[in-house]
Amino acid sequence: MDNAKPLLWIVIPCYNEEDVLPITAPVFLDKLNELATKDMISMNSRILFVDDGSKDSTWKIINDLTDSDEHFLGIRQSRNRGHQNAVVAGLMEAKDNCDITISIDCDGQDDINAMNDMVTEYLNGYEIVYGVRSKRDTDTFFKRVTAQGFYKLMNSMGAEVIYNHADYRLVSSMVLQHFADFEEVNIFLRGMFPLVGFRSTSVYYERNERIAGESHYPLRKMLALAFDGITSMSVKPVNFITGFGAIVGIFGVIGVIWAVIESITGHTVAGWASLVCIICVLGGIQLVSLGIIGGYVGKTYMEAKHRPRYIISERTWVHTRRIYIEEKNAITEDESNNRENRKDTGEQK
Ligand code: UDP
Ligand code: MG
Repeated sequence: MDNAKPLLWIVIPCYNEEDVLPITAPVFLDKLNELATKDMISMNSRILFVDDGSKDSTWKIINDLTDSDEHFLGIRQSRNRGHQNAVVAGLMEAKDNCDITISIDCDGQDDINAMNDMVTEYLNGYEIVYGVRSKRDTDTFFKRVTAQGFYKLMNSMGAEVIYNHADYRLVSSMVLQHFADFEEVNIFLRGMFPLVGFRSTSVYYERNERIAGESHYPLRKMLALAFDGITSMSVKPVNFITGFGAIVGIFGVIGVIWAVIESITGHTVAGWASLVCIICVLGGIQLVSLGIIGGYVGKTYMEAKHRPRYIISERTWVHTRRIYIEEKNAITEDESNNRENRKDTGEQK
């Protein structure tokens, strides 16, 4: 009977979250139990923490959690690779083990009660359910304005993203199987899932304040994410340069005609200062344009490398080397049993 209910894996990226995790982990577990008791998901659902190479005690906390309850699992990236890669690592780990995934930040900002609506929408036949913030009252004024500017900039530059949707979303394993075919290294999940397609919808929730710790997304990182998103998803900036270049070119021609007329009519052409100004303006435009084009060339270079997008160094359910040494005897015993079993099967053949 349980098979009829979807198996859910909640994927939670964590980077230096020792202050938050002990508070939010039990809340996630309660939610999982609630959904299971309401018969919306399978009892065998899991919560997968992805430690994104934290430098504090996050990985230890994750290990303690997995010891305390079988519903908790953890994987650890070999180094810090950033939020997007951490989420992908978790989703790829989950895709063959579950029917649906929900990715959510570990800081308690996204209302976990929206998970009920997400699962309901999945049961209604949607393959992707985006969590959308209905309002941002709890964000600081600065965060709110910069974040809204971020979505507007993204859309105007041709990287289609769902307004006020971050990385809180339900994705079915079927969609993830196809998502896995997107082999690019510069990943911007919010822009990529709409590209995968399938039936999708949104659920709305109110965003809370961070429970503890600090945001890892200051303005600098947000601008980097916006630039990454735009250059990963669209070539509009290049078209923009071409258009801008054409306009500057027209003005250039007018300037040349004006200069010729001025010299023919015998007026002294204005001197040095205006020339330097023009050179500076054009120099600036050229540099900016080169920078943007350079961004694309750089990305092509990175894509050509086909580097792995993430590397998992440990899994809580796989014995690490250290534990292997500690439990050597037990493992040796297991191995000898296995060997005997293999011998048995050999004899049977
Ligand atoms: N995070 C991560 N790797 C990073 C930075 C952040 O895995 O390099 C995680 C972090 O632990 C959190 C989520 O990504 O669960 C969102 O980060 P944060 O809350 O700092 O961003 P904000 O909500 O302020 O945009
Ligand atoms: Mg946050």
